[in-house]
Amino acid sequence: MITTYFIGTGGGAPNKRGLPAILIRREGFDALFDCGEGTQWRMMEHNLSFMRIKLIGITHMHADHVLGLPGMIETMAMYNRKETLLLMGPRELKDFLEEVFKRTHFYPSFDIKFVSNYEDENIRIRSFETCHTIESQGYLFEEKDRVNIDAEKLRREGIKDWKVIRQLKEGKRVEINGKVLLPEDYLIIKKGIRVAYTGDTRPCEKVINAVKEVDLLIHDSTFLDEKEAHEYGHSNSSDAAEVALKANVKRLALFHISARYDDTTELLRRAKIIFEKTFVSEPLSYYIIHHQKE
Ligand SMILES: [Zn+2]
Ligand SMILES: [Zn+2]
Repeated sequence: MITTYFIGTGGGAPNKRGLPAILIRREGFDALFDCGEGTQWRMMEHNLSFMRIKLIGITHMHADHVLGLPGMIETMAMYNRKETLLLMGPRELKDFLEEVFKRTHFYPSFDIKFVSNYEDENIRIRSFETCHTIESQGYLFEEKDRVNIDAEKLRREGIKDWKVIRQLKEGKRVEINGKVLLPEDYLIIKKGIRVAYTGDTRPCEKVINAVKEVDLLIHDSTFLDEKEAHEYGHSNSSDAAEVALKANVKRLALFHISARYDDTTELLRRAKIIFEKTFVSEPLSYYIIHHQKE
């Protein structure tokens, strides 16, 4: 199960939707993507602990995505964090933080480690290039596929030899008594859940290729029908829907909505004409994805 918390879902100037911040949680692993101004306050008010965050990924250096980060890191230190914090982001992120820490005479109580990707036995976090006005990257949070042996089938067929079972699990074909057993007949693959977040982007091939068939795509949807949207490095909601359709994703969340839209009905309607399984990421809402039952 993966839970995505939409902490702030507006874009540009601060507005009531809050500024970009998404928390993705999987069994005790919390990752935050973008950290607009006010993120720590919104998390505190809603009992989401930022002390549990293991990794923070920043999409790009525009203020609405990064200004909340130095404050959050300093608060972590005040609360005596000891655990290393992993950071992903554009090249300038390190210089930016070092400069702020130096000028605010801040000495972290914990290590901050910059990484270009993350992997453990359960998940993988990778970045992909997006098409904005400055260097910018989106993120893929992926659960690894799990391979289980079909114990029921083995029992039915009277296969008990653990060596045979192990070989099948390793994906090897096995011959017993002249009969060939193929691993694919005895393995159940549980597909991992995948969530993609673009940050700011106009619709582009790079993004479509990176987010193919994800369970949830969180895409820039700054405008409704702004002619200059692409020049600003942003998308209209119909653009986000086109990307979702072309990438064959399961669900689309419209994100980074401009303060000019108090009412998002039309924004959503236009997107749904192209891609039906769309919703507006409401601030302080969350979205849960369970594994599909086999
Ligand atoms: Zn932005
Ligand atoms: Zn931007």
